[in-house]
Amino acid sequence: MNKAKRTAVIAGNWKMNMTPSQTTAFMNELAPKIAGLNGCKVVLCVPFVDIAAAVEATKNTNIEIGAENVHMEAKGAYTGEISGEMLKECGVKYVIVGHSERRQYFGETDVTVNGRLKAGLANGLKVILCVGETLTEREQGVTFETVSRQTKVALGGVSADDMKNIIIAYEPVWAIGTGKTATADQADEVCGAIRGVLASLYGEATAEATTIQYGGSMNAKNAAELLAKEHIDGGLIGGASLKSDDFTVIVNAAQ
Ligand code: PEP
Repeated sequence: MNKAKRTAVIAGNWKMNMTPSQTTAFMNELAPKIAGLNGCKVVLCVPFVDIAAAVEATKNTNIEIGAENVHMEAKGAYTGEISGEMLKECGVKYVIVGHSERRQYFGETDVTVNGRLKAGLANGLKVILCVGETLTEREQGVTFETVSRQTKVALGGVSADDMKNIIIAYEPVWAIGTGKTATADQADEVCGAIRGVLASLYGEATAEATTIQYGGSMNAKNAAELLAKEHIDGGLIGGASLKSDDFTVIVNAAQ
């Protein structure tokens, strides 16, 4: 199997940006720009309070809606958290887990990421699992070790069959929101190493079928070069997903 047989997925991560009315306006602007494109899946992961507006505005379009996190427990005394069942009922199809900002600012660990990932799967959501090394880890030469550990722990208890609903996003922390992009070769090398980890866990066929995205200052200018690489099957896009023209260029580059 080769890259062409994997599903290309371009996903936006809005982080803490956009209100519900801004969400409606954005989706109405974006939808016609990408209406004819079907060579890749297009997902926008939005803040919880924007989900209803996003789902409503993207009915009958080729845009699917995701959330930016999910709690590991089904319900209970977890103030401020959101369950997979809640997301599902709101029309969410995807959820991001393990984003580096969650790990960095909100104390998430490989173990909590594993719990959240399993909660997403248990509720029928497709899960975008983020892994990536810090600048210090890259400089210390432990990039592969880091992403390998993050991937293995986050996928604990996940079967080969479940992998149909998992996307891995390789996001070097030093490239997120910094304007510094990994070179296409650097990004491809780590995405290839992650595919190797998947092969060791689940076998070659599952590894070859899994979508692996690159994320980290992907933009309208560098997307085509990154997306042309053998192991890069899509992108997780922060800043550039807030501008419909830039996001459209990236979606086009993935066709
Ligand atoms: C992200 O938030 O996952 C991301 C990659 O952000 P940016 O594109 O802004 O670097």
